[in-house]
Amino acid sequence: MDLGIRGKKAFVAAGSKGIGKAVAHALAREGADLVICARGREELEGTAMEIGGKYGVKVKAVVCDLSYEESVKAAVSEALDALGRIDILFTNAGGPPVGGFEDVKIEDWDYAYKQNFKSVVELCKLIIPGMKERKWGRIIALTSVSVKYTLDRMIISNSIRLAVTGFIKSLSIELAPYNITVNAVAPGYTLTERIKEIARSNAEKERVKPEDIIRRIAKNIPMGRMADPMEIADVVAFLASERASFITGVTLPVDGGQSRHPL
Ligand code: NAD
Repeated sequence: MDLGIRGKKAFVAAGSKGIGKAVAHALAREGADLVICARGREELEGTAMEIGGKYGVKVKAVVCDLSYEESVKAAVSEALDALGRIDILFTNAGGPPVGGFEDVKIEDWDYAYKQNFKSVVELCKLIIPGMKERKWGRIIALTSVSVKYTLDRMIISNSIRLAVTGFIKSLSIELAPYNITVNAVAPGYTLTERIKEIARSNAEKERVKPEDIIRRIAKNIPMGRMADPMEIADVVAFLASERASFITGVTLPVDGGQSRHPL
């Protein structure tokens, strides 16, 4: 299926590794030019070279810390200079601090608010006006299975991700008359470097192998395994496409059946 986004311009937040990098691959494969942003220059530039070289599209690396408003503003301005416009916005950032109510501090809540919620609002504020003028836009927010299935010891994710869900839903209604769709993708466990690192560190503590930790988690997933990052990215690319033109305001879980929820 031709997704119909060749030549579109995309902003991929937190795109140097993991799910964001996979999304950058998927959009570039479909012929979109990209700006990818993340905090660490070296890895980001390596990813931009890799993707640009593989698909022959323009991929610009822009260093940005999404938890700082000024940094987000500067990144969008650099992206507009490089691409001329932004048609597709993928919002994403590092995971919020982990723990239960007693474990997380007020500063952790502040940090997650800025990084995982406010950055989404800021990116939208800066990028939507151009989409409205051109009467075409796709916004896809990465959230988590935690919006459908309350996770243990993830009280911040369980809370802040739902704020994004509410924001996305409201925005989808306001922007529908402008031919701008706004959706969220809610991944379950996805085998990124970050998850492998968590498995390695838990394995050390428990004196087992990282594969045992991953297998234990996978047992609770009906498909019996974690997602490959490209399985999340391909869904994002579809929602970013011309083919998904009448889908707006949805949260699509991509979780191998983990969120046992009828709707
Ligand atoms: P990852 O650590 O592999 O990649 C995170 C990316 O975000 C990197 O490119 C990193 O440089 C960038 N980043 C982190 N903080 C940033 C900041 N403040 N400003 C700019 N860039 C920043 O992580 P991942 O596994 O790909 O997860 C991505 C998001 O998806 C996270 O929010 C995570 O909580 C969420 N998520 C992940 C899973 C999973 O199983 N991997 C499941 C559900 C939700």
